[in-house]
Amino acid sequence: MTDHVTGGPGLPQERRLVTAVPGPESTALQARKIAAVAPGVGTTLPVYTVAAGGGVIVDVDGNSLIDLGSGIAVTSVGNSAPRVVEAVTAQVESFTHTCFMITPYDGYVRVAEALNRLTPGTHEKRTALFNSGAEAVENAVKIARAATLRQGVAVFDHAYHGRTNLTMAMTAKNMPYKHGFGPFASEVYRAPLSYPFRDGGLSGEEAARRAIDVLDKQVGAGNLAAVVIEPIQGEGGFIAPADGFLPALAEWCRASGIVFVADEVQTGFARTGDLFACDHEGVVPDLIVTAKGIAGGLPLAAVTGRAEIMDAPHVGGLGGTYGGNPLACAAALAVIETIEADGLVDRARAIGKTMLDRLHAFGDDRIGDVRGRGAMMAVELVKPGTTEPDPELTRTVATAAHAEGVVVLTCGTYGNVLRFLPPLAIPDHLLTEAFDVLQQVFEEH
Ligand SMILES: *Cc1c(COP(=O)(O)O)cnc(C)c1O
Repeated sequence: MTDHVTGGPGLPQERRLVTAVPGPESTALQARKIAAVAPGVGTTLPVYTVAAGGGVIVDVDGNSLIDLGSGIAVTSVGNSAPRVVEAVTAQVESFTHTCFMITPYDGYVRVAEALNRLTPGTHEKRTALFNSGAEAVENAVKIARAATLRQGVAVFDHAYHGRTNLTMAMTAKNMPYKHGFGPFASEVYRAPLSYPFRDGGLSGEEAARRAIDVLDKQVGAGNLAAVVIEPIQGEGGFIAPADGFLPALAEWCRASGIVFVADEVQTGFARTGDLFACDHEGVVPDLIVTAKGIAGGLPLAAVTGRAEIMDAPHVGGLGGTYGGNPLACAAALAVIETIEADGLVDRARAIGKTMLDRLHAFGDDRIGDVRGRGAMMAVELVKPGTTEPDPELTRTVATAAHAEGVVVLTCGTYGNVLRFLPPLAIPDHLLTEAFDVLQQVFEEH
């Protein structure tokens, strides 16, 4: 087997292919995976990693691939980022777990203080920590129900909130997330989103009015505990609602006593060129859910929000064995320090501008829409001159990019969106090279 390879930004920042992708070692491991791992856990690109850092992933065959996925927007500060490695190493040598609900530790409190300070709004806040985005979304719903004594939860078309029972109910797309896994949690209602590419010119305010009408007439504002929304949708296709949509929705929630919950699991922590995507229009959610980019790859998630809402559940009503694990908290503090010290919010904007310019310059009439914000960018692929989705082309382009050593992900309700989520630690020359490869792939297919 391959010797230990140190990752982090010290890895050679180059695309280097020494075998086919996947190579023989990866192919052998994939055969073992198929025999040993439940097939429901799929694999986008069966290339087995030995090290990663900066903008590259190095595989067992010695190939070095350019990473435009960040493990789904997780390693925004880069893989094995130096401050994260140092903080987690120190923590693992001190203690690995006590359970915060038994004998607590200051790392958890410091993460809570940081989130209370950094998330939108200057009101008094509290935070609770969990392990995964889905678990945190579930807890946001629990908290909203406890605070409002109502039960209804409003979500949107194309939404993705996770794979647990309640979050499957909240997620829109049947395949692969829900099919055959019901019955789902009740009291979840779906409203139409603002989707500028497919909305026939509806303004943000008009789209909000349409959504509010559905909820008002079909559910009743007085029955809703929470409206839960991704400020820019992730798995649903990187759909950024028209300006004005989120503020109008937030305002209606405020006037109706509904808890407005921003699911910033994918958009949070500098990804979109703001620390949080809600900051873009100055929207202040009552609760904000964070995970993915929060801890540089260690499992951590949070619900942060208004003290009077967060204080509603009884003592012992929230928690979990591992929630706010000390290693994950040490990593999160290092991530926050890295974002601030390395200016990663500005870096995300610069990366976004580069990606936007490159994608527009492709001039390909199968690219129906280029959208996103900051280092969260996507193209929606369609049959030329129409809005008819082209998932086959999307798969073809992604597969061809993988073979050339560029890791890209797909998403979207119709499977026709290529998304780009580079680590914010990626050097410019790799970003340029990745888009050179993509341009060539588009020209050849
Ligand atoms: C990934 C994601 C989740 C679920 O997070 P997990 O950590 O996979 O449970 C929830 N909401 C959004 C917007 C996501 O992108």
